Amino acid sequence: MAEDGQCQSASGVVYGLADPGGNLSFFADEVVWSLFSSGKFSLSLAFKEIGQGRSSSFALSHIWHCRIPTKVSFFMLRLLLEQLPIPDVFGKMGFHMPSKCFCCYNGANEKLEHLFSEEQIAMEVWTYFTGLSGLQTIMSTLRARVVAWWMVGPRAEKRRILFRILSCYICWHIWKARNQAVFERSRMCAVTIRQAIMSDVVAELKIQFNHVSPAV
Ligand SMILES: [Zn+2]
Repeated sequence: MAEDGQCQSASGVVYGLADPGGNLSFFADEVVWSLFSSGKFSLSLAFKEIGQGRSSSFALSHIWHCRIPTKVSFFMLRLLLEQLPIPDVFGKMGFHMPSKCFCCYNGANEKLEHLFSEEQIAMEVWTYFTGLSGLQTIMSTLRARVVAWWMVGPRAEKRRILFRILSCYICWHIWKARNQAVFERSRMCAVTIRQAIMSDVVAELKIQFNHVSPAV
């Protein structure tokens, strides 16, 4: 009995040390969502929390659109962040390897600006579509070319969507043609790229509006 009394006394001391205010309770454990003061999880509050961390970049906010496939949006994200897997990008990470572009006969190092903006095939593709649309602007870099389409904002809904998505498709098909040249030993061709872009864009506009004229 004496030992039992000592045990009860000892447990009381331990309890008192752990809970000096006497607030410790024996309720069941529960999950607490620490981001919110209520401690309760809510899908709408979680969405708001994630939304606050969304990029405010004008360029990055324009690559997501219902008429741009998700794979193309992610490709554009990597392109604009200069994270595509080409030797020039690997070199900036410290991995140096032989580099020769597949878009021309100059044997130049394959760089993003060269492939997507400066080289003859890329220039032909960009010039073709800017000529069709009447877009008049000085475009010196890839980013300037892409953003120029987003800056116009025509009133007509079809043209507004077209201007929103076209530059993404131009970059996407240049990249696809480049990869076919690298892995399938085909030759990059501006006309083929233009046709693929036109086909995709017209298909997307048809889905959006059920019918559309092929003219830009
Ligand atoms: Zn080249």
